Amino acid sequence: MRVLVTGGAGFIGSHIVYSLKNHNEAAVLDDFSSGKIDNLPEGIKIYRVDVRDRDAVFAAFAEYRPTHVSHQAAQISVSYSVEEPAFDASVNVLGGLNVLDAAREFGVERVVFASTGGAIYGEVPEGEKASESWLPRPASPYAASKASFEDFLEVYRQQYGLSYTILRYGNVYGPRQDPHGEAGVVAIFTRRLLESKPVRVYAREKRGDEGGIRDYVYVADVVAANLMALQEGLDGVYNVASGHGRTTTEVLRAVADSLGVEPEIEWQGVRPGDLRRSVLDVSKLRAHGWQPRVEFEEGIEKTVAWFKDNY
Ligand code: NAD
Repeated sequence: MRVLVTGGAGFIGSHIVYSLKNHNEAAVLDDFSSGKIDNLPEGIKIYRVDVRDRDAVFAAFAEYRPTHVSHQAAQISVSYSVEEPAFDASVNVLGGLNVLDAAREFGVERVVFASTGGAIYGEVPEGEKASESWLPRPASPYAASKASFEDFLEVYRQQYGLSYTILRYGNVYGPRQDPHGEAGVVAIFTRRLLESKPVRVYAREKRGDEGGIRDYVYVADVVAANLMALQEGLDGVYNVASGHGRTTTEVLRAVADSLGVEPEIEWQGVRPGDLRRSVLDVSKLRAHGWQPRVEFEEGIEKTVAWFKDNY
């Protein structure tokens, strides 16, 4: 396999690159808008390219000639997508189409796409878990872009025979997550508490409640799903998560306990575009032999330890 990882300098992409490079050939395509060169192993081939730049995307494919594409590059902030929906779509839909057209042109066998289980299903009622058979019900421009690109993948399969795997991630956390962005509450809490700063908890329904419920999954488990999709050629759509819901304050408590500090909380109202509850059914991917291996408490310990060493 020769795998081109778009967004490979980012949080999840760089973990995929590290795990690929031992047994396969891998290269990175990234505009470094949030990705970092320090996230990458030495000697890896890098294309410093914005996916919106069609000519540059094609030139990278023409030179590297990947057999597989791991498409992780994206505008990742839900709240920014609410402010700038056209920008979100320009990267997440139109930029993605440049990647798909180049994949088609240069005979790529499979595209694995980082979609969102955390946003695509809309509200998941109490007591339920969203499974892949649920119809997408995007409640933000970010989710709408991801759902739209999923549709394009299916169209390209029908029209051009391009195989794909859609991985709908829950809330991914772990080492190297950007703590300066708006997404990634574990990274944000860890950095703020390490700096002895107050943390914000956005409300689920009203200021002062426990915050939204999300399905948190450790990055190594997400990487394992990506490798399985690439190596075993999984077709279709798969949730990648833990199958358990946790509130924002539960996450904050775990991070604070791991650091041995007492957090100062600035309670916020509901953030536009945020869901109240999202929990995912992961039985479909489990049936293929994948399972989340890192328990939440262990994942938090590992993440906090990494931030302590690197901040
Ligand atoms: P990240 O911001 O760390 O990584 C995204 C990477 O894409 C960065 O390296 C960035 O520089 C690059 N990028 C952004 N715009 C680009 C452009 N126009 N051209 C080329 N490169 C560009 O975020 P992440 O958390 O690692 O997310 C990776 C993927 O997983 C994204 O597609 C995201 O939507 C998806 N996802 C993430 C989560 C999560 O919880 N982190 C959940 C669901 C889905």
